[in-house]
Amino acid sequence: MQNLFIYNTLTRKKEAFKAIDPPHVGMYVCGPTVYSDVHLGNCRTFISFDLIFRYLTHLGYKVRYVRNITDAGHLEGDTDEGEDKISKKAKLAQLEPMEIVQKYTVDFHQIMEIFNVNPPSIEPTATGHIIEQIELVKVILEKGLAYEVNGSVYFDVEKYNQNHNYGILSNRNLEDMLNNTRNLGGQEEKHGKLDFALWIKAKPGHLMKWPSPWSIGFPGWHLECSAMSKKYLGEQFDIHGGGMDLAPTHHTNEIAQNEAACGKMPANYWVHTNMLTVNGQKMSKSLGNSFLPEELFSGNHSLLNKGYSAMTVKFFMLQAHYRSTLDFSNEALEASEKGFKRLMNAFAVAPNLKAASIGEIEIKPLQQKCYEAMNDDFNSPVLIAELFEMCRIVNSIHDKKLKIDQSNLETLQQTFQHFVLDILGLKDEYAASDELPKVLDFVINLRSEAKSNQDYTTSDKIRLGLQSIGYQLKDSKEGTSWEKI
Ligand code: AMP
Ligand code: ZN
Repeated sequence: MQNLFIYNTLTRKKEAFKAIDPPHVGMYVCGPTVYSDVHLGNCRTFISFDLIFRYLTHLGYKVRYVRNITDAGHLEGDTDEGEDKISKKAKLAQLEPMEIVQKYTVDFHQIMEIFNVNPPSIEPTATGHIIEQIELVKVILEKGLAYEVNGSVYFDVEKYNQNHNYGILSNRNLEDMLNNTRNLGGQEEKHGKLDFALWIKAKPGHLMKWPSPWSIGFPGWHLECSAMSKKYLGEQFDIHGGGMDLAPTHHTNEIAQNEAACGKMPANYWVHTNMLTVNGQKMSKSLGNSFLPEELFSGNHSLLNKGYSAMTVKFFMLQAHYRSTLDFSNEALEASEKGFKRLMNAFAVAPNLKAASIGEIEIKPLQQKCYEAMNDDFNSPVLIAELFEMCRIVNSIHDKKLKIDQSNLETLQQTFQHFVLDILGLKDEYAASDELPKVLDFVINLRSEAKSNQDYTTSDKIRLGLQSIGYQLKDSKEGTSWEKI
């Protein structure tokens, strides 16, 4: 196993990764709230965790990757006040909340597929785990760290902090947190300023609600992740992740809930991705500066000069380390487009290179540098710089300026394959579109052969099969042609 170092938000340093039960790794990542389209910022976070998932898998770990879907309990403004984001949207659109959830979950999956992000091992929903959440509230109440007021249940932060460190994740002490928290209106039920809801009694007209021992209501947003991570990964697991914006509240409260219920820190490594920004400001739905992936692909946005392919956008994101901010600009995307084409051209050339009997280059040291980059807290920009060095070598061999022997050629081809396809999760969009006509011509020739042998069953099967996947064949005196239906 490689010596992998991960930056841990909890200890604020890079630590050698040690799985609790190798080769198994449990990883939980907070997923999207499915009340509107995911924007590119959200995509950056999920692409970053896909990189981590892919690399751990490549190293031989058996990763159970749990990424939830928030389909209840996330209120406007991320506080315990206001309307549920999904219910509000449903009312506006005159739809069932579950229609909203279904639409945006399907859309989210499609976008993830376009970015070639692998699905997680388990994708649990908040609404599917109401019982587990109620059970968790009961345990926290039994431990005396929560209280009920008028059918709602709140976590008692100050009492919890007497024996625990509430601000452990963001390295703040309770006094500073109390001093820096505004007293929000409508929170009179809470005993303390930092207390947060575990269960909220539904107001009249609230759409998504369930019976509980305290009231007909719904769980607080932070509770779902504590309940679902515990259910699928156990009381203690390896990695917990999400965007950096989740650390001060959502993850801080998640830790408090798990510690209160089980007496254990839920995850050993807390990993946070940095934000995608526009002119230095966090991309967010509420700030109105967000880009939808489709707008980027089509170029249909006032801040864009043109459209960019999904893999160009993904490559642009991977050229920054996940813990650095990444600012969105036309110039940066154009540079990434050139870089991505350079990488993929060399990638297409590499399998066809010919080995010489005596070579002039050793590839192993370069392969080792690729691993060193990823072992240093998944440093994808450094990895990409090493891959560009590999492109230079590929082009020199192709131009007959450099010789490589068979064993080094195999190492080069394998390194390219592993790091570009399996780990960065890039796809050769250009090659795929170039190859399609060749594949279709090949299939058309097979059909012509079947026809000339009077095997009409096979020839019809080919024609209908192509039709069913969107290609219409047309026979004429000149031969057979195809068109996309
Ligand atoms: P949400 O659907 O708002 O709950 O967000 C889903 C995930 O996207 C969370 O992990 C957020 O931290 C993350 N996220 C939100 N905005 C950005 C952004 N501008 N850049 C990177 N990640 C983000
Ligand atoms: Zn969460």
